[in-house]
Amino acid sequence: MRVAVFSTKPYDQEFFRATNSAFGHELVFFEARLNSQTASLAKGYPAVCVFVNDDLNARVLLMLQRSGTRLIALRCAGYNNVDLQTASELEMTVARVPAYSPQAVAEHTLGLILAAARRLHKSYNRVREGNFSLDGLLGMDIAGKVAGVIGTGKIGRLVAKRLLAFECQVVAFDLMEEPELVAAGVEYLTREEIFRRSDIITLHCPLVPATRHLINEESLALMKRGVMLVNTSRGALVDTRPVIRALKSGKIGALALDVYEEEADLFFEDLSNQVIQDDAFMRMLTFPNVIITGHQAFFTHHAMEHISRQTLENIAQFERGEVPAGLIRWEDIRGGSA
Ligand code: NAD
Repeated sequence: MRVAVFSTKPYDQEFFRATNSAFGHELVFFEARLNSQTASLAKGYPAVCVFVNDDLNARVLLMLQRSGTRLIALRCAGYNNVDLQTASELEMTVARVPAYSPQAVAEHTLGLILAAARRLHKSYNRVREGNFSLDGLLGMDIAGKVAGVIGTGKIGRLVAKRLLAFECQVVAFDLMEEPELVAAGVEYLTREEIFRRSDIITLHCPLVPATRHLINEESLALMKRGVMLVNTSRGALVDTRPVIRALKSGKIGALALDVYEEEADLFFEDLSNQVIQDDAFMRMLTFPNVIITGHQAFFTHHAMEHISRQTLENIAQFERGEVPAGLIRWEDIRGGSA
């Protein structure tokens, strides 16, 4: 099938080209992000392949549909950037890669927690400059701490298990309890109790209207002073302004992010020679107890191979008139079962 692949970097092209030898799709790579300014590039392509910061709002979907696109193949798990209701009304198929390597994201999350707890980002730079002072590097043991996991799906449950292995007391909130985690010693609590009792809070729920700005003025007020907050899920789960205030007051003791609400203008690009205009983002970087990675948690060899294979398989299944394995049904999302 002829596919317009948006937001591509050299590494995307490398993995997709290698995997496509078994599929034979006609892949045309665009560096541009898909939005209303670039949607015309997809004219005549029955399928588009998109990533986390492509913007498939109602206007873009209508433009795509009018110029012949029938399949949206997401090469990621999250689908918050697609107006699924409009896609359904336009009879466009939307497919994703529901699980490529939850281990990759869980391991990155643990990496961030350990780095933030022991200020590894600070010590790495100090040692490179010949500064072996320990002042300001006093760390926190993870063992014995209460770790709150919000969202215990594919990634959250792996994070919970890893935190148990680090001898944390793991508490969790999800719409559904996971019996395997309960058996392993995880205690499910209300969301408010998680905020009140946790020393570490890590977010693994999807971005949906109910979870947008889950971390806000009110939830921060419930938290322990010095709490560590970790977000490797989606940026808009966190309201940045109150978080900056909480960093200034010491309410938040450490912040570790792999995602950011306004990341579309920053992440995946080399902006080292430019003046970054996002003042809130730059303010966060000034705190010694903040560590940020640029939406990197998914990025392992194993995950990239799986993503390219499953994406191309979704496209092949659609082309054969079959239901793609990664199909997203608006009816399921609306009904809350997805
Ligand atoms: P999943 O669907 O397997 O799990 C999500 C869990 O969240 C489910 O158990 C669901 O019941 C729960 N949930 C839904 N609404 C909730 C709510 N209101 N409150 C609490 N829990 C709720 O998803 P997953 O594969 O574990 O992915 C989790 C998140 O990680 C997604 O947002 C995804 O976009 C993100 N992600 C990030 C990266 C990265 O590179 N940083 C990579 C992959 C996935």
